[in-house]
Parts: sequence; C-alpha cells; structure tokens
Amino acid sequence: MIRQLWFDLLEALHLAEEVAVGEHVPHGAQDAPQPWLVLDVNTGGLWFTPHDAPRPRSRRLSVVHADGPVPRQEWPLYRRSLTEPDPDGANVLQQLRDAASDGRRWLVLDASIPPRLHTLAAYETDTAPARATWIPAYLTIGGLGPYPGQIARGYQHSGAPVARFEPQTVVRIAVDSDARAARDPERPADLLVLRDYGNGLEAFLMRAAGAVRDLDYGQPAATTPVGMKPIHVDGDGWYPIVDNRWRATQVRPPMIRSSGTDEHLTNPPVFGSHAPGGARCTVCGASGYDIAYQELPSTAGYGTDTSIWCRICGSSVSFAEEVGWATRRAVWPPTLTVPGDAFPMDGGPR
Ligand SMILES: [Zn+2]
Repeated sequence: MIRQLWFDLLEALHLAEEVAVGEHVPHGAQDAPQPWLVLDVNTGGLWFTPHDAPRPRSRRLSVVHADGPVPRQEWPLYRRSLTEPDPDGANVLQQLRDAASDGRRWLVLDASIPPRLHTLAAYETDTAPARATWIPAYLTIGGLGPYPGQIARGYQHSGAPVARFEPQTVVRIAVDSDARAARDPERPADLLVLRDYGNGLEAFLMRAAGAVRDLDYGQPAATTPVGMKPIHVDGDGWYPIVDNRWRATQVRPPMIRSSGTDEHLTNPPVFGSHAPGGARCTVCGASGYDIAYQELPSTAGYGTDTSIWCRICGSSVSFAEEVGWATRRAVWPPTLTVPGDAFPMDGGPR
C-alpha cells in the first residue's frame, strides 16, 4: 500500500490563490509570482511559495488524513509549479480550480515513485472525524424518509453519504420502521429501536426475523432479533447512522418553482452576486465553489442552455432556449415535515 496524504482542496486553493496574486503585484501583472506547491511527505505539511523564494510564503496546511505506511527513509520535498503549463497546456492551479468547481474536496498526494498529485471527491470512512464539516440535507435512510439530516462534507461510506440525525428525527425513523414492518410482518425487518431510560435516548439498528405464522391460530409468532447494533450519539447530540442496511441517499429538496421569459420575474433572486468570489445562494447562504455553473448546447438546436445551481440546497436558475427562464427555490432549511416528492439528488439542476 502506498502512503496517501489528504489535504483540504478548498483551503489549499485559497492559499495558492493568495500566493498567485502576490502581495504587492497588481493582478495580472507580468512579474506576478509563479507559485509552487511544496509538500513535506515526512511531516504531512503543504505550503505555497514563489519559485525563487526559499521559505513558505503561505500559511502551512496540515494533512487531514495520512494513510499507509510511514516512510522509513526521509523523503525529499515534493515541489510542483502551479502555473507552468504541462504538455496538455493545462496548469496545476487551473486543474485545482476545475476540480473544486466539479465538487471535489480533496487534494491527494500518492507517495509513489514518482509521486502523484490528484483530486478526489470523498474520503472513505464509516466515522466522520470531529473536524468534519456537517451540512444540512434531505435524506432517505434504509429506504425510509426523506428526513432532515446532515451529511459530512467530503466523506462517504461504500458510496453513500455519511449522515447523522437529530433525536426527534431518530424517533420518527423508529416509528416509520415499525410501521413498515407491521405492513409486512412475515418478512424480515430492519428496525430502528429506541430505549429511553430518562437520561438520554439509546438507539439500536435491529434486524428482526420474519414472523412465522402459527397455522392453528393464524397469529404471527413473536419476532426474534438476529442482530443489534447501537448508534452512539456524537459530541453535538446527533445520531450518526452509517450501516450497509441503512444506506443514506441525499434527495432533492422540495422546490418552489417559477418560470417565465424574464429572470427578474422571480423576486428575490436566488443568487446574489455580491459575495467575494462570485455568486451567493440567497436560500441557504452558500457561495464560492458551492455554486455551480453549466452551459450546454441547447436542445432547441440553436443557442445555449445555461444553469446555475447550489450544491448545498439544490436551488437553481436555468435558461433554456425552448422554455425561457426557470427558477427553483428549495424549501430550506430541511424540516421534519417533508412534502412527498423525493428524487435522488445527482448534483445537477432539475
Ligand atoms: Zn443554496
């Protein structure tokens, strides 16, 4: 196994952009610094510096996840120009921006020979670390829901988001799992079971065998638990549910739609444009790389269809040659009373 060092891509980009602009150099000037990325494989530190400067010009970024064997011998510093075009004409800085625009969260160095720098969307784990960023989401869990919850930014377990729920939502999930089992008592059931001893809610995931119907009396026999797994409340008082039988799926929030020929028919606008670094979602407050853009040749056969949407709440404004402007404003923040239409959220506009 190769040693892998995982850094926060957005933090790294922020530092790189600061060095790229330079402290006293006007933006776009010819003598703007050509920043380099420098990475210490031994200590897990990352910083940026102009190519002729020996010392770090940026703050030093610490590794978030370091996997694989610790190197036995001292590694030389890994150095990479951010702005020198590679044979394809792309430079690393632009590649990092594009990766962030695509929703990727991690800058990863494989300490192979030669080392390989790349970006990834999610780190695989069943337990989000304490410093994880939790963002609100509408989620189905184990085929039930949707419910309001939170997902750990940049983490996944077997391809599913790492999700957690508030106590009152856990109670609702327990009731819903009971109701599902009652509708089909002969089949094995996945239940969320609660115990409250007065000093806090204890929750368990339980797999119950299907009831065997008593032939003489027509009554189902008692269900037998075949497995129980406790859910441990986290430091914020939320219940993380990460289990292969209880996969979480992020679904699109209910949307308030409006459409017309003029973007400004919708008021207030979904996206304000006064945030540093671009648009800001007025529904959930997201900005920066959480606001995504897409331009596609129009299905009308001429012109261009465009969309701008929010990766956090899914609100969007789109223009299609054939239908004009359409605005979708998410019902936000997620609440326990969720209207019925739930669709898998693929990150794109609808
Ligand atoms: Zn939003």
